[in-house]
Formats: sequence, structure tokens, C-alpha cells
Amino acid sequence: MLDKSTREKYTVVIGLEVHAQLLTKSKIFSSDATQYGASPNTNISVITLGHPGALPRLNKQVIDFAIRMGLACGCEITRYNIFDRKNYFYPDLPKGYQIMQDKTPICVGGGVYIRNPDEEEKRIKLHHIHLEEDAGKSMHLENEPETLVDFNRAGVPLIEIVTEPDIRSSEEAASMLTEIRKLVRYLDICDGNMEEGSMRCDANVSVMLKGATEYGKKVEVKNMNSIRNVQRAIDHERERQILLLEEGKMVVSETRLFNAENGKTYSMRTKEELNDYRYFPEPDLSPIVVSEEWLAQIRKSMPALPHELYHKFVDIYGLPAYDAEVLTETKAIARYFEEVCSHTRHYKAASNWMMGPVKSYLNDASHSIEKMPVKPAHLTQLIELVAGDKVSFAIASQKVFPRMLEDQSKSAVQIAEALNLLHESDSENIQPLVKEILDAFPQKVDEYRKGKKGLLGMFMGEVMKRSKGKANPKVANELLRKELE
Ligand code: ADP
Ligand code: MG
Repeated sequence: MLDKSTREKYTVVIGLEVHAQLLTKSKIFSSDATQYGASPNTNISVITLGHPGALPRLNKQVIDFAIRMGLACGCEITRYNIFDRKNYFYPDLPKGYQIMQDKTPICVGGGVYIRNPDEEEKRIKLHHIHLEEDAGKSMHLENEPETLVDFNRAGVPLIEIVTEPDIRSSEEAASMLTEIRKLVRYLDICDGNMEEGSMRCDANVSVMLKGATEYGKKVEVKNMNSIRNVQRAIDHERERQILLLEEGKMVVSETRLFNAENGKTYSMRTKEELNDYRYFPEPDLSPIVVSEEWLAQIRKSMPALPHELYHKFVDIYGLPAYDAEVLTETKAIARYFEEVCSHTRHYKAASNWMMGPVKSYLNDASHSIEKMPVKPAHLTQLIELVAGDKVSFAIASQKVFPRMLEDQSKSAVQIAEALNLLHESDSENIQPLVKEILDAFPQKVDEYRKGKKGLLGMFMGEVMKRSKGKANPKVANELLRKELE
């Protein structure tokens, strides 16, 4: 175990390589389906299986999707794209090579904004994003001598997002992955599901003495199937590498596998066994040129992005950072909230409704916001009722809102009226009540007049009780004061 002061002599340096499966219906170079969970070896054809003479044909939607991600990250978009062959032998790679972009990655540079716990923003730079095809899946069955291969995944389109070594803690790495997942989901290009492997991450980790000018030797860790496990793997690697250096040993450049059972990493292969992939341009595919029109069309179809919405919610709506974070978690939540806000200026109230009653309902019903029965415009009405002192928040959330969830044919006003819940704001009607209460408590009135002003709350409580919560508190308050003074 390392002590804290030793650990703090070092800085951890991290770069991520994130693979995201693109949500196209068919594969990148054939019309085979990409559908997850199909029976093994049913989504295959001669192209997927790499039969001699079978020719790949590019699925153009793949280019659209990759460019969407590139635009969202502020990358430069490569206009003249070629594909390359990366040659290697593996049982789940029937062609003996993978088609990918080695020399002309479709997106170059750019970056992704993350926020650390005190809301400070940091931009993690991207090296590039390139396109490639996925390989099949080898299945090593328990107690079976054979390994089976499922080629359904072979040829499924992937983008690989390669970051610069800009990340300085496992928490930052987790934030980066969370942001990337949020982005691909906002863009509808990948479902971001790490457990099912549709988003995968390799972490490159090195350590160096604080203030050093040169990075240390890096280790690449694979096989993490959740953001939490990426974080655990990095923490373990940092510890392991610092220990090595403290013992006067060297870190070996290698690829390691993470074991989620014990939280440790194990050597898989060293970089000395570095493969020579013999990259060369894929002769069966012609270059893909991204025209100005094509790019403009993709640009036009881009949704508002999470960090743009975050800033809008903070800077224009004046919401706390926490609210903005929660409200931009998914595109559907942000959309719903935006719609609520398009009819009201009570943004903080709207946010409180989203994070309070709306969220509790969705949690209890295990629904996502897409299944929210109350339309945004109806929620706005309810917010306006509260803001206009027509009903209290308590009554609105406990009595009106539940009814709205059950019956979408009636508006908030109609429900509040039908339940006789609208505040009594007419002083003519509240005045007798005020008199009645003051008559009932002559001693308290006396005490109040002698200076015990705190008793106002008790009188207000009586008014609310006797009006069954219907008296407009503002009006009641004024009338009480007038009578008492
Ligand atoms: P390789 O050629 O070994 O694949 P690259 O330069 O292509 O290495 O980088 C791969 C990934 O490793 C990138 O995400 C990059 O940010 C990261 N990386 C590079 N050097 C380091 C380092 N010293 N420590 C941590 N990560 C690094
Ligand atoms: Mg690499």
C-alpha cells in the first residue's frame, strides 16, 4: 500500500480510446442487419464472411453519423476519405484484415467539455475520430473444449474516438466517458450501452513525477464494461505503476486486462510483440468525398447539444449548475423542460417541478420522460397557477398533479376548479374568517399588540386551517395585519 504523501508526488496521465457502435440498420460494407441479440450467424453474407471476390459497399449513413459526432466535438471534418486495410489474423476476423481509416480519420482535433465536481469546465482534446468495422465474437463456453464464433457483429460500424493524454484523474476519465455517452445519445448515433458492449473503452495510463516535462511509459487497459470499472482500473494502474517506480523498477509498455472481480489488471501482451499491421489503402472501395452540401445538410440536422443547453439554462434561465446538469442528462428531459419553459418565465419553479414531482412520478412508475402523461403545456399551466397564487405548491403537487397524471383530458385549472382548490383571493370572503379568528383568540391578539409579532404565523395557520388551505396567503396576511394593527 502506498502512503498518501508518496502517491501525491505523482501525476496520473490518461488518454482514452472509445469505440461506439453506430445505430445503422445495416452494416458498414454490406446490407446485413446489425440487430443486437439475433441468433448467432444469422446476420451474415459473403461480404461479412470475407469470401474471395465479395466486394464491400459503403453504407453512407455511417459517414453522416461520424460527422455528426465530429461537428458536436468541434473537429475538423476530413473531406477526402480513404479506407485502409489493417492486416492481422484472428478467428473472429474472417477476411484476415479489418477495414478502417488509418491515414484519413474522418474527424481531426476538437474536444469534449467535462465539468469537475465544483462545476469548473475543462476541455479534453481529441486526437481524432475514425471509422472502422467491428469484428465477430469468439465465445469461450464454460466446460467446453471448443471455442465458437458468432459473425453477427463482424462488419458492424464503429467510430473510435481517440483523446489526447489530457485526462488527469480517474474521476475526469469517468466524466469524459459520461459526456461522450451523453453526446452519442443526443445525436442518436449510438445507444451508449457499455454493458452490452455498444460502447467500449480502452484506457491508456501512465504516471510521472509532478512537474516532470515528459510523460511516463503508458499501459493500455482493456476489458472494462462500465464507467465505474474504467475508474477502478485506472486507480489500480496508478497505484501499481507508482509502486514499481518507488521500488526503482520500470513500467513496461504493455496491454493489460482488467479483472472486475478483484479490481486488478493483468498483463496480456507487451508492446515488444507489437504487430506490424501492414496498412495499405483498401483497393475495393473508392474514396469518399464529403461535399459542402452534404456537410451543410448534416449541420442543419444537428440537435442542441448538452453543453449548449447547460449554458443556456445557467446563463439565460438563471438556474443553479446542479439543476442544469440534471435537466440536460438526456435529450428527452431537456426537450420537455424547454417546452415547459417556452410558455413561462418561472424557470426555477419549472426546474423544481421537473426535479421534484415529475421525477418522483417517473421513478415510481419506472418510466422515462417519453412516457410522461402530462403534456409540458399542461405542466406550465400548473406552474402558472402556483406563481399566480391561485393554489399553493403543496396543493398543486399533492392534489392537482396526481389528477393530471390520471386524466389528461382536463387542464390544471379545470381540475383545481372541479376539486374546489383554487385560492380564495377575494378579501370580502376572507375578511369574515379573519374576524372570526381574532375573536376566538383575544388573549393572543393582546400579546401581538404588545409586541409579540411572531404570533402572526399562528393566526395565518388558523386562516389556512379554517379555509381548508384555500385562502390566498398573501391576501389573508394583509387582512390580518390590517385588523391587528
Ligand atoms: P499507440 O501508438 O501506442 O497506440 P498513441 O499515441 O496512438 O499510442 O496513443 C494512443 C492513446 O494513448 C491516446 O488516447 C493517447 O492520448 C494515449 N497516450 C499517449 N501517450 C500516453 C501517455 N504517456 N500516458 C497516457 N496516455 C497516453
Ligand atoms: Mg493506438
